[in-house]
Amino acid sequence: MSNYQRQLDQLRSAFPPPVSDQVHDGYVVFSLLRALDQVDALKSQAPILGEPTQPDYATASAARLDDEGRTVEQVVPELVRSLEGMLINSHPRNQVNVSPHPSIASVIGVMLPAIFNPNLCSDESGGGVGEVELRVAAMVADLIGYDAQQAGGLFTFGGTGAMLYGVKIGLEKALPGSLREGVTGRAVILASEQSHSACLNVAGWLGIGQDQVVRVPTQADNSIDVGALADAAREQLSGGGRIAAFVATLGTTDAFGLDDLEAIHRLRDRLVEEFSLDYRPHIHADAVIGWAWSVFNDYDFQNNPLEFRGRTVRALATSRSRVRHLHLADSLGVDFHKTGFAPYTSSLVLLRDRDDFQSLVRERGQMPYLFHSGEYHPGMYTLETTRSGTGPLSALASLRLLGREGLRVLLGHGVEMAEILREQIGSCPELTVLNSENVGPVTLFRAYPSGVDTFEVKRREQSDESFAPKLREYNDFNRRIFQHVHAEAMAGRGVAIGLTDCYRRTDYGEPLVALKSYVLSPFADESRMKSIVHHVLAARDHVQAE
Ligand SMILES: *Cc1c(COP(=O)(O)O)cnc(C)c1O
Repeated sequence: MSNYQRQLDQLRSAFPPPVSDQVHDGYVVFSLLRALDQVDALKSQAPILGEPTQPDYATASAARLDDEGRTVEQVVPELVRSLEGMLINSHPRNQVNVSPHPSIASVIGVMLPAIFNPNLCSDESGGGVGEVELRVAAMVADLIGYDAQQAGGLFTFGGTGAMLYGVKIGLEKALPGSLREGVTGRAVILASEQSHSACLNVAGWLGIGQDQVVRVPTQADNSIDVGALADAAREQLSGGGRIAAFVATLGTTDAFGLDDLEAIHRLRDRLVEEFSLDYRPHIHADAVIGWAWSVFNDYDFQNNPLEFRGRTVRALATSRSRVRHLHLADSLGVDFHKTGFAPYTSSLVLLRDRDDFQSLVRERGQMPYLFHSGEYHPGMYTLETTRSGTGPLSALASLRLLGREGLRVLLGHGVEMAEILREQIGSCPELTVLNSENVGPVTLFRAYPSGVDTFEVKRREQSDESFAPKLREYNDFNRRIFQHVHAEAMAGRGVAIGLTDCYRRTDYGEPLVALKSYVLSPFADESRMKSIVHHVLAARDHVQAE
């Protein structure tokens, strides 16, 4: 045996066995188990793995590839170490942000494709996982109210990617030929001030230009002001601009604001008539957070079989009144890694009419097989070439594991926990909820120094410009409270809440800082929710005494 062959022999043991070999399989599982064991040793009462760490970027950039390889046993600890200092997303003491809480089934949905690597570029390379992609698309299409026979969908790189597809298709409708010839005219994207920064990213990357994103003011409930949207759209159309897309946000990132898609849809149709447009401006629903609330479309709110509290029922029913119109969008984004309990990245872009994908086919004259013919070649119109099977498989795992009922339970629990927190905040004169008109699992709130009338202050902060210095002082006050609560949480006391630097802008343009509690963890419970107020008030006293 030559030297290289000896080494090759050793290396083979570091790969999962391609043919049945149960002893070798045992080694694969055992290696995984040992890695999990090492992670387990990092767990404590605090919502963090190990201790808070400062990343050492200087040493990191000095890293070089060694000559000698290492064993699996030597490599794994280095991987585990990289998790040190990380917040545990699903920890009941972590309510920092909208982050995924992957179920066991969805983790296996990532692991299997990681071993066998289906490539969703075509059905030759993707096999049955391509079929899973279609199955999940059909399930979600039906869930949100599309005709699943006519709809189509693809997994892509995040809600940002989903929006990129939606707006790209809209751009082809507004300025046909852009894919081949480039963007030859002026096109705009209309979205709300509370819409995600992905709008800007998409406009930039598609060549529309970030300056062509018109951000329309929102109302107190963080939904787009449809009157202002109508004015903005008319102004653009009158000036010869074309509308690449209306982006409706259903579930804004910070506050869970839900745009009125029904009104936007009506506006779009009216504008087509009014301006005799030769195209129908595209509506993309950025529903990466809100899509999952569709499971309440057919919930029996009257009898409330899941026995949610009154406040929760009201909140869920209010969300439903907006979410049930999702089917009016021409395309929409779904993040399973936000509210679908799947790991990163698992995002689906859905089209109401799958034929809209035709406008993205790269080579003209070659019709794509949009699964009418039994062949499936999404690679002819996807932005990506190689696409992983992890998104569809982990999404399928989640949907099968939970069903409509499981999603109702988990999402309803998040909302119920938020309502408990709101009830608590409502009884504290030092605290006030900012997004009181929003009804999701996220609560944005502020604390004030003693003696401040929290009813009066909210109004002045919003509209009285002479109050700006005070507002900045209170912004700072809340930042310091956050730091204190955060430090306590890292030490295993209290709950890690989040901070947003700009919940929204005041009428005179100042950002409002807010404390944030985002509850999605199945492990959150009532007593912990009640402890939040206690810890925030203690931090407030501490900051006030400084
Ligand atoms: C998170 C988010 C996005 C971006 O989605 P990614 O999956 O992070 O790419 C877009 N819109 C909204 C409303 C979001 O919350």
